Amino acid sequence: MRTSFYRLNLGITKCYLLECSGGYLLIDTAYPKGYERFVKEIDKLGIEFYKIHYLLLTHHHDDHAGFATRLVEQTGCKVIVHQNAILPLSRGESEDTMEPVNHRIRAVFSLFKIIHGEFRYPPLAITDKDLVVSGDHFDLLKSLGIEGKILHTPGHSRDSISVVLSDGNTFVGDAAMNFLNFCGIKYRPIFVEDIDLVFESWQKLAEHGAKQIYPAHGSPFSAQKLRRYRRKFTGK
Ligand SMILES: [Zn+2]
Ligand SMILES: [Zn+2]
Repeated sequence: MRTSFYRLNLGITKCYLLECSGGYLLIDTAYPKGYERFVKEIDKLGIEFYKIHYLLLTHHHDDHAGFATRLVEQTGCKVIVHQNAILPLSRGESEDTMEPVNHRIRAVFSLFKIIHGEFRYPPLAITDKDLVVSGDHFDLLKSLGIEGKILHTPGHSRDSISVVLSDGNTFVGDAAMNFLNFCGIKYRPIFVEDIDLVFESWQKLAEHGAKQIYPAHGSPFSAQKLRRYRRKFTGK
């Protein structure tokens, strides 16, 4: 059975709304200021707000968890996260653990950091009603009526999780990007904690049947690209 979904363009961050039993699961929110645009997009699709039953955060960064607290307050949705996200979410800030993936990104973002200010958002408290995973989880989504699995895909951040549907459609958050390609990115995250882990995560996605990659930043692309560039960068 195919799971149908919508791609929501909320500026820099693309979010995905997947159909589940009796409603929807949203993958990621955008920056805090993206909330109004999100409401408009949902309205355009004719989807009732209260039907968003779950919010899966691919990781805790401010461009993904930005309006999570507001959405939880409005809908009462349950949050699905990796356990490593709980602490930074409770503080409402992006952990400063990453390095630019190359020199060009370092140059581009030296200015951005000054303009952007602090990487903060309203803190999100994970409670007993929420669903916390500690690694790969093959059954959770199925129990919600979604034919797919959750994979732990660290490298960009230690709490990064991805969703691989049984038809190969794959939502990776920032585990891979199609963004700022003029900087020689080649689908890598522009900021990384551990590039070797990024490539291991790409391998894991391939092993679990990823076919089409839907990133949070940039347009969808074929998973073949990750295979090709992993080989190019690692020689494996
Ligand atoms: Zn991120
Ligand atoms: Zn991001």
